[in-house]
Amino acid sequence: MNDLLTAAYSPDTFRQQAHALVDLLADHLAQAETGQNPTLNYLEPAEQLAYWEAEFEQPANAKPVPLWNEIIKRSIHLHNPKFMGHQVSAPLPLAALTGVLTGLLNNGQAVYEMGMTGNALERIVTNWLAQKLGLGPDSGGFLTSGGTLANLTALLTARALKVPTDVWQHGNSGKLAIMVSEEAHYCVDRAARIMGLGADGIIKIPTNDRFQMQTDLLEPYLEQANERGLTVFAVIGSACSTSTGSYDDLTAIADFCQTHNLWFHADGAHGGVAALSETYRPLVQGIERADSVVVDFHKMMMIPALVTAVIYQRDGDAFRTFQQKAQYLWADASTKDWFNSGKRAFECTKLMMSAKVYTVMRTYGEEIFTQHVDLLYGLAREFATHILQQPDFELAVMPESNIVCFRYAGSETNRDQINMLNSAIRQQLLTDGEFYIVQTILRGHVWLRVSIMNSLTTMAHLKEMLLTVKRLSELVVQNIPTSD
Ligand SMILES: *Cc1c(COP(=O)(O)O)cnc(C)c1O
Repeated sequence: MNDLLTAAYSPDTFRQQAHALVDLLADHLAQAETGQNPTLNYLEPAEQLAYWEAEFEQPANAKPVPLWNEIIKRSIHLHNPKFMGHQVSAPLPLAALTGVLTGLLNNGQAVYEMGMTGNALERIVTNWLAQKLGLGPDSGGFLTSGGTLANLTALLTARALKVPTDVWQHGNSGKLAIMVSEEAHYCVDRAARIMGLGADGIIKIPTNDRFQMQTDLLEPYLEQANERGLTVFAVIGSACSTSTGSYDDLTAIADFCQTHNLWFHADGAHGGVAALSETYRPLVQGIERADSVVVDFHKMMMIPALVTAVIYQRDGDAFRTFQQKAQYLWADASTKDWFNSGKRAFECTKLMMSAKVYTVMRTYGEEIFTQHVDLLYGLAREFATHILQQPDFELAVMPESNIVCFRYAGSETNRDQINMLNSAIRQQLLTDGEFYIVQTILRGHVWLRVSIMNSLTTMAHLKEMLLTVKRLSELVVQNIPTSD
């Protein structure tokens, strides 16, 4: 080996770099958790790129610490209790550390010997989750890289099992369709289009005033679809939806699917975790009857991205998704062996993601997940109640999960500009950087949206955020044109 490679692989170098990195991250955590620094230092994309382009021109530096430090400074900080924006967890430091371990081992998972322990831990973690969801004795699944890929995988399985023709062999024939709430995550729409269903193949069921699928419309919508020559093969229930965190009536969907022999897929990427909580379990009533369920560990279970479980009512169904022969990898591509991950997951090489979940569970017990969901869901309810008492603010809907949509109502005079006002407030918050929240569109109106993802966030932070919104609203009102 040449000198550069020898030095780069040297255990001593690694020891030094690792100690330096842990010290840097521990200091970062200590600072972020106080909430005293901005959640992000917002820069326009071109400005950010220009900085890094200039940095890239510098000679290589054998010491990575200054670079790491700059990456931290120029990133959004999820451990800051004033981060309450997108549904990404503030990862448990232990899970992130386990990521260093699995990164170094780099076992690829697709075939057993390239992931002996990773595949075994994956089996345990997915069986545990299947049982918590209340699925039957034949249930089981695997882990994959994110809810988007997981939903696509489950819908491919649904098509393989419910469509009478062999689409894998012959391609789509006829017009296939799925039914899903209009409030479902956009990745379901994307999955359907990737599968060649086209716009006609995604039947969006309207939602009620709580943004839940109007399940009584499933029957008439199915009839109409059949009249139009569509073959519906699956219904997707959101548990919960993304914008408002609303849970569809999964029992009603399960009944409907049973009656019509359709695949019932539950998208529990965010809110499937409610199954772990005694208090919130009723929200996912019926999930135990799903043919497939998706749950993200990197949303409500504090694992760094990406770790998603796809769980099937019948573990064996998962082997029907990709009926592909890859004989050089597996001696027998047709056997249903759980330990060759690549047979049923999209990925060939896959992260050793199970180790992060397993380490957290073995270190802190599964209670850490339960306590987390109970705390965050409870806080969202308390926050919503507080909003209802504020004359300047409106609540979109009483939250079922840890997602709360609200808006600044303003004074009578700018009532007609409420959308513009709230958009401007959100933009102002972003550049201000202290709090991080997002916005969403509900029935054509702009709402501010928080996902309370961080267990260090308290009512005091949320109240302070409202005061900041109010303060910034006075700034932006002056900049909003008065005519339409
Ligand atoms: C976040 C989310 C997804 C997408 O999952 P990723 O892990 O971000 O790919 C899908 N469905 C729902 C309901 C979600 O909340």
